[in-house]
Amino acid sequence: MTASQAVDKPLLGIARQAAAGELLAEKRRVEYRSLPTKSWLNRCHSSRVPFDWTINPYRGCEFACQYCYARYTHTYLERDDPGSFETEIFAKSWNAASFRKELCQIRSGQTVAIGTATDPYQPSERRFHLTRNVLECLTMVRGIRLCITTKSDLVGRDADLIAKIGRQNRVHVSITITTADPAVARLTEPLAPHPHLRFGAVQTLRRHGVVAGVTASPILPYITDGRASLEAVARAAKEAGACHFGAQVLFLRDITRTTYFNFLKRCFPALVPWYEASFRQSSSPQASYSARIKKLVSEVREHSGIGRIDLEFPRGAAAVFFGDAQLRLFDEGSGVGP
Ligand code: SF4
Repeated sequence: MTASQAVDKPLLGIARQAAAGELLAEKRRVEYRSLPTKSWLNRCHSSRVPFDWTINPYRGCEFACQYCYARYTHTYLERDDPGSFETEIFAKSWNAASFRKELCQIRSGQTVAIGTATDPYQPSERRFHLTRNVLECLTMVRGIRLCITTKSDLVGRDADLIAKIGRQNRVHVSITITTADPAVARLTEPLAPHPHLRFGAVQTLRRHGVVAGVTASPILPYITDGRASLEAVARAAKEAGACHFGAQVLFLRDITRTTYFNFLKRCFPALVPWYEASFRQSSSPQASYSARIKKLVSEVREHSGIGRIDLEFPRGAAAVFFGDAQLRLFDEGSGVGP
């Protein structure tokens, strides 16, 4: 059939119905791009930052959490579309030999954190294996502290490798699970793995002898801050064998503030006035709210029986991974970045 015949021929039956169908949704298109990088290890000099070195294999993150504090990092790339953080993912160029040379800079006892800005186990990791490449090189290192933060069950793929690194270093994995309710997670973290899969990853890591725990940060006021909600996360974490549980309250700044308020207007419009009043002056809610939530988290932790463990991490690093503090990536001069 020629094009003109196709134009002339009237559409019938299902073809006519299909042509008249309304657009229900468009599938997201994600682009993966390479990004040359001079160094994989990012040195942190600030005393406000609890790590000596950070590694972030990707820029941007497909998980699209509405509260993501790392969104500002895409503004350095001068992308016009604020949503590009979720749809334009940059994979850093990998060179094992030069990364191994970089590793010589790490002194014994120093802390290296993977995933301080963007998730090291986001979907791009299935294609590019950059985080796995990093871990393979780290099996040659001794006497350091390694922290890995992720919201993905894909970390379970590397459980054997992480356990191997842990035999000659102090290693700790923190899996972020803000809610055990999949419907809430779908709204707040649209493309992150189902909470059930994340609890499963904790179990996998623990089975391999890896020190792993759950952080429910950020706690979203009036969305995930109820005692029942936090107890559900802590209970499931305990069942998965988590070594720690912690959480702290949301903070909003810059582009994250805009994204989060748009999300509230779409999904929780009744909460907008409370957030506007609470976050008007600062990137955190009032001190009284934060103090109440801190106490609640402490009670939930105690009630869950997970407790605290001494990982012998520097004070600040332990606080971040126990969820008592949150890394403020935007601190000027912190040296923390993707
Ligand atoms: S997983 Fe982490 S880096 Fe990725 S969008 Fe969510 S908060 Fe941001």
